[in-house]
Amino acid sequence: MNDALLTDDQRQFRDAVRVFVEREITPHATRWDLAETYPLELFPQLGKLGWLGTAFPEGVGGAGGGAVHYALMCAELARGSAAVALGIYVHTALAAAALLHLGDEAQQRRFLAPMLRGEKIGCWAYAEAGAGADVSTVATRARREGEEYVLDGAKLYITNAPFADVMVVVAASAPGQGMKGLSLFIVERGTPGVAVGAPIRKLGMGASPMAEIVFDGCRVPAANRLGAENQGFLRALKVLSLGRVASAAFGVGLGQAALDAAAAYARERVQFGQAIAKHQFVRFTLAEIATRLEAAWQLTLHAARLIDAGSPFDREASMAKLFASETCTWACERALHLSGAQGYMRESPAQRFYRDCKVLELGEGTSEIQREMIARSLGI
Ligand SMILES: Cc1cc2nc3c(=O)[nH]c(=O)nc-3n(C[C@H](O)[C@H](O)[C@H](O)COP(=O)(O)OP(=O)(O)OC[C@H]3O[C@@H](n4cnc5c(N)ncnc54)[C@H](O)[C@@H]3O)c2cc1C
Repeated sequence: MNDALLTDDQRQFRDAVRVFVEREITPHATRWDLAETYPLELFPQLGKLGWLGTAFPEGVGGAGGGAVHYALMCAELARGSAAVALGIYVHTALAAAALLHLGDEAQQRRFLAPMLRGEKIGCWAYAEAGAGADVSTVATRARREGEEYVLDGAKLYITNAPFADVMVVVAASAPGQGMKGLSLFIVERGTPGVAVGAPIRKLGMGASPMAEIVFDGCRVPAANRLGAENQGFLRALKVLSLGRVASAAFGVGLGQAALDAAAAYARERVQFGQAIAKHQFVRFTLAEIATRLEAAWQLTLHAARLIDAGSPFDREASMAKLFASETCTWACERALHLSGAQGYMRESPAQRFYRDCKVLELGEGTSEIQREMIARSLGI
């Protein structure tokens, strides 16, 4: 990706993350995927390097930097392993960011600071069997009883759930009020009434475990509510700006990994007397992947720069997320095609990229939800 307009600080940060990823993540990514295990040691490692605190203010234990830094980190992590990047993204851009924007000082000291050090791991528990693209159908209840809330219900498809210490849970505190009745709660691992199910097996992101979380009369101190009652989710939608940009950067990084692998294969693989990279179809396909990824990256950087400048960014973040995730899916499919049968084999990174990419179109607002938001921003 063209990095000419990055500041020296951004470029140095990107290079440092890249070196780390190439040494500590990329060589192990296939093994972690096949074994379906997450390298948990990365959390304290990245915490010590200060990278989990990227784009978080120093006052809460963050490392400073902005959305551009965060996008650079996401892209580099995803280039090494999309599953590793997914775990870090949920931990930082969703769980930790909710604590930053909605948490009070005590909550930030107790939960956010150790999360940014990588000592506690976070998850973001929104989705349910009946609540996916339509947020207003969240059925998990939060009933106030004195100085506590009682949570009942079940969350599904929750990334990091099998090892999360801090769960940020979306629950209906005013049932029937749709989004205007949703609050956020911090639930600690081990709280009576919380049960985490067995890891759910899935198409891709093998190294990133997900599970169901069941709340059965789970009592949470009122002090663990994040933000005002019935306002938490609406506010989160407004302030969790890193999410869509992170997701877009993620798509660019994963697409770039697919492009790198396909180009390497095309340079080496000889058919009809020459490297397949010399055949026009192969050259043109690689050129088109590179072009679309560059466009996706520039949209992503643009949205990240708007955030850093304090300008409205909603439409651009949706455009970046929509375009980058769909480009990533297309690029991973084309890259697998160019890698032939070798790419289809279980140990090949190309098939891993192809299995990993699709979720980017589903999470953080599906492509249809992004299109809807973009259309609304056009006044239609
Ligand atoms: C690998 C993975 C990790 C995940 N991790 C988490 C996590 O950590 N935390 C969490 O809370 N959730 C997580 N999820 C779930 C994610 O939040 C949901 O996938 C997402 O909210 C979409 O919901 P759904 O999958 O139920 O799709 P559905 O709501 O069932 O939608 C199905 C299809 O219908 C389309 N659709 C729905 N409504 C409309 C409409 N009005 N107009 C046009 N099209 C529409 C959607 O775009 C989609 O294509 C994860 C999912 C995956 C696959």
